Amino acid sequence: MIDVVIVGSGPNGLAAAVVLARAGLSVRVFEAEESIGGGARTLELTEPGFRHDWGSAVHAMAFASPFFQQFGIEKRVPFVVPDVSYGHALDGGQAGIAWRDLARTSDGLGVDGAAWLRLLKPLVDNGQRVAEFVTSPLLPLPTHPLTALSYGLRAIEQGSPLAGLRFRGDVAPAMLAGVYAHSIGRLATLGAGAAGMLLATLAHSVGWAIPVGGSQAITDAMAADFEAHGGVIETGHRIESLDELPAARAVLFDTSARQLAQIAGERLDPSYLRALLRFRMGNAASKVDFALTAPVPWANADLSRTGTVHIGGLRAEVAAAESAVARGQYARSPYVLVSQPSLFDCTRAPAGMHTVWAYTHVPAGSDRDMTEPITAQIERFAPGFRDVILASHATPATELERADANLIGGDIATGAASFAQLLARPVMSSQPWRAAPGLYLCSAATPPGPGVHGMGGFHAARLALRQTFGLPMPSLGS
Ligand SMILES: Cc1cc2nc3c(=O)[nH]c(=O)nc-3n(C[C@H](O)[C@H](O)[C@H](O)COP(=O)(O)OP(=O)(O)OC[C@H]3O[C@@H](n4cnc5c(N)ncnc54)[C@H](O)[C@@H]3O)c2cc1C
Repeated sequence: MIDVVIVGSGPNGLAAAVVLARAGLSVRVFEAEESIGGGARTLELTEPGFRHDWGSAVHAMAFASPFFQQFGIEKRVPFVVPDVSYGHALDGGQAGIAWRDLARTSDGLGVDGAAWLRLLKPLVDNGQRVAEFVTSPLLPLPTHPLTALSYGLRAIEQGSPLAGLRFRGDVAPAMLAGVYAHSIGRLATLGAGAAGMLLATLAHSVGWAIPVGGSQAITDAMAADFEAHGGVIETGHRIESLDELPAARAVLFDTSARQLAQIAGERLDPSYLRALLRFRMGNAASKVDFALTAPVPWANADLSRTGTVHIGGLRAEVAAAESAVARGQYARSPYVLVSQPSLFDCTRAPAGMHTVWAYTHVPAGSDRDMTEPITAQIERFAPGFRDVILASHATPATELERADANLIGGDIATGAASFAQLLARPVMSSQPWRAAPGLYLCSAATPPGPGVHGMGGFHAARLALRQTFGLPMPSLGS
């Protein structure tokens, strides 16, 4: 009998694999796809030599995740951290620029500079504590209650219709709207406020990092450490039932909640099973990757200093776009998230050429190719963009699910990131990773939710070590 089976090799499955193999257990990972990494993979999607991040591109949690800190990701993967964490493109060649330096950002915001500082400085000064609070189990109570309170109050305010009241101009609210919209849903919600405050804090503390070589470099580093500690990964093997698995003392699922119900339903407590089946998927992303003959010709030159550009106009326009998607419609003027890694990492494209990754939000289950709406939005803020496109590759929402079964309907969060589902993910418990004796859920369908941070896997593995094996946490450093 082997000790542990892990179903799925996304960042959370691999984080669990690293922890458990380093504890001296025999661990085997089964991955449905031919390549490992789930949402953190890098592939030649357009032309030879152009390497595109299939899923995650910008890694705000790379340096703030307690798992990555213990694992020493900075020593294993080279990262570039742009001086500008994100930019928000506006009409007429204007832009909001979120420098990693908070004071410099505030200086650029004119009448709203002081309000920006008042909103974010208390969190930025305690950036690591904010990250620890957000990635920790709900119970027991937070180690740094004042930071947690300060973060919580701001998340509540910013996730409400009061969000804009601090500001007099248009630029600061637009910049924040671009960050809140990451969570795919209406802007004035607690889920958007909570995720947005974390991302905005990290933008002015550790920065939004770009891994050299693409997001695959992160999952490859985890897989290499796992294999060096005796772990085995079997790709191209989709698990449909517990009967297919070798006998093991523990099974960890880096899958969606719904798949856990399908694969292991008969082993689960009926009330837990009901919670899995009730767990709601969110709306979707539809993505386009571009191979370019030159960098994006932004009307505002500062947008070439960042890895991430938010597009969609002023706050009201971004809010309208996200509300349309929440109603199951396509936005007339869609919000678009753009990553331009080749400006900072020359491994992504042949010399002088560039890659751009862009997605917009669409109703769940959409099979629409969004190349034209995305191209038109970029062209609006970067006239001449069409002229530098060498090739493009569309990945509609339905295709996302086809290449990663966790992304049901194209939901890149593996379950709507509403406030209720951030608290009960998929159940409200001090041990939400525990599914049944010896069975654990470790994907982004558990706390702390979506993102490349490995924390779902880290928590689930720690619980399995304690409950199933009676073992302490091993050291994760090299
Ligand atoms: C387009 C896109 C853009 C994103 N952008 C960012 C970003 O910029 N920054 C960021 O931090 N995050 C981003 N994310 C989110 C991030 O990638 C995910 O939150 C993260 O990958 C979740 O990790 P996970 O291990 O829980 O699941 P996943 O990464 O989804 O991995 C799950 C793995 O399990 C496998 N699997 C599922 N079912 C089975 C089965 N039955 N048998 C065997 N294997 C199975 C899947 O094939 C997959 O490899 C993005 C995601 C997408 C798709």
